[in-house]
Amino acid sequence: TVSGEKHENVGEEKQSRPVIRNNIIFVTAEAAPYSKTGGLGDVCGSLPIALAARGHRVMVVSPRYLDGVSDEKFANAVDTGRRIKISCFGGQQEVAFFQEYRAGVDWVFVDHLSYHRPGNPYGDVYGAYGDNQFRFTLLCHAACEAPLVLPLGGFTYGDKCLFLANDWHAALVPVLLSAKYRPNGVYKDGRCILVIHNLAHQGVEPETTYPFLGLPSEWYGSVEWVFPTWARTHALDPGKSVNLLKGAVVTVDRIVTVSQGYSWEITTPEGGYGLHELLNSRKSVLNGITNGIDVGDWDPASDQHIQFHYSVNDLSGKVKCKMALQEEFGLDVRPDCPLIGFIGRLDMQKGTDLIMMAMPELMKEDIQFVMLGSGDAGTEQWMRTAESIYRDKFRGWVGFNVAISHRITAGCDILLMPSRFEPCGLNQLYAMRYGTVPVVHATGGLKDTVENFNPYANERSGKGTGWAFSPLSKDSMLKALNLAIRTYRDFKPSWEGLMKRGMSKDFTWDNAAAQYEQVFGWAFIDPP
Ligand code: ADP
Repeated sequence: TVSGEKHENVGEEKQSRPVIRNNIIFVTAEAAPYSKTGGLGDVCGSLPIALAARGHRVMVVSPRYLDGVSDEKFANAVDTGRRIKISCFGGQQEVAFFQEYRAGVDWVFVDHLSYHRPGNPYGDVYGAYGDNQFRFTLLCHAACEAPLVLPLGGFTYGDKCLFLANDWHAALVPVLLSAKYRPNGVYKDGRCILVIHNLAHQGVEPETTYPFLGLPSEWYGSVEWVFPTWARTHALDPGKSVNLLKGAVVTVDRIVTVSQGYSWEITTPEGGYGLHELLNSRKSVLNGITNGIDVGDWDPASDQHIQFHYSVNDLSGKVKCKMALQEEFGLDVRPDCPLIGFIGRLDMQKGTDLIMMAMPELMKEDIQFVMLGSGDAGTEQWMRTAESIYRDKFRGWVGFNVAISHRITAGCDILLMPSRFEPCGLNQLYAMRYGTVPVVHATGGLKDTVENFNPYANERSGKGTGWAFSPLSKDSMLKALNLAIRTYRDFKPSWEGLMKRGMSKDFTWDNAAAQYEQVFGWAFIDPP
């Protein structure tokens, strides 16, 4: 705020202010179903629709990725005919805009040759693309132009709009607004909110890349990032780099992270990835809003990816889903055997090292374990090896497969998420909605959303929706898993209580969208 004091927590505002309908521009590297590698895609595929349903005019700007395999996803997006030239990287880059109007939202796709590649949005089997800074610089410039030049449905969005810049890929947007547009009188009444889904990626490149970004030279300081001495290669290394996310943190009007827990964690040395002091200095404009989930897509009563359906009032279909999953994965079909699942990127963040360490001990129990994920090559190899070692108990599916992720979510009894850090986490939310009890590390959004089971709170069924263990260690994870396994086996009513409480939680996007609206209001009250 102007006076610098902190706003009340989101969702706790006492006085209800009238909600203003805004023109909103999402800028994102992923938007499901067009593109998705993780939670960012889910959020930017759903939140825009929820906001449009509440009366806002919403545009989502993201790249038109053509990988030669699933290009039909973009089949309904037509060429708007608009071309613009962007001055960056030592030349004029021409980009085109494609558009599809769906579910009340203008989905705008920026077209450029650098987005047409086999592989995912960020890289391929050889690793991250070397020109990602270029690709996402283009996206940001194009997104700043889109509200000005695209007459969607006959009218442009105009410059009194609100940008939601998601993660480092969109981080140049608020810097461009401050450095390029506002000094020329454009976007003076526009605002920008940075949404941090994962602070671990910041868009850091050598200092020498600054002139390529298309920013005035005197704005270098906004993105300059100096590494601490210990991180430099030698004594004469000045340690300077360009950090796009840092540029956003210092220029943006407000900052939102995807859970309250994470909004605090990023202001600590442990969770701040070097930006904690800067984020602390912006605490007065920093809020956390827990992600919602697409409750239409993820509904055990109608999910198109599962064979049998169920709901909180009739759970009988769940065990059938479990048996179908056991059959699909070639495990013994045993309805009473505890079935544990893991879904996610194979990455240090997700704590897969802990799973590998704990497996020999875990496999002594009479349980089954299924794992779906891709990423770190060593972990992928371990999954294949573990299958042959624990032949009748463990199955690992290496790859990215949405249908299987739904069937694991429905078929398992327990979903394990030992994430080292987790900005929000979606799989625990999906799990609870499907009556699958989450066992998670108590961090970030996991801690915010999974309520620890307390069998003594009520003599019949207790309280809570899962287990949140701490500290992050193999032993505390195993202890929580053992408690979960024993509760499943020996305390059926308690287990059913856990399932039903999870299934009854409100994780709708509408709930989250209402909280975003509060933050939008604050963004417009304070001058940029
Ligand atoms: P993150 O964004 O850090 O990857 P989230 O839990 O926020 O983690 O979101 C991950 C999303 O990606 C979820 O929708 C999850 O189901 C999905 N996902 C992750 N790995 C896979 C996979 N191998 N196959 C299918 N879906 C996956």
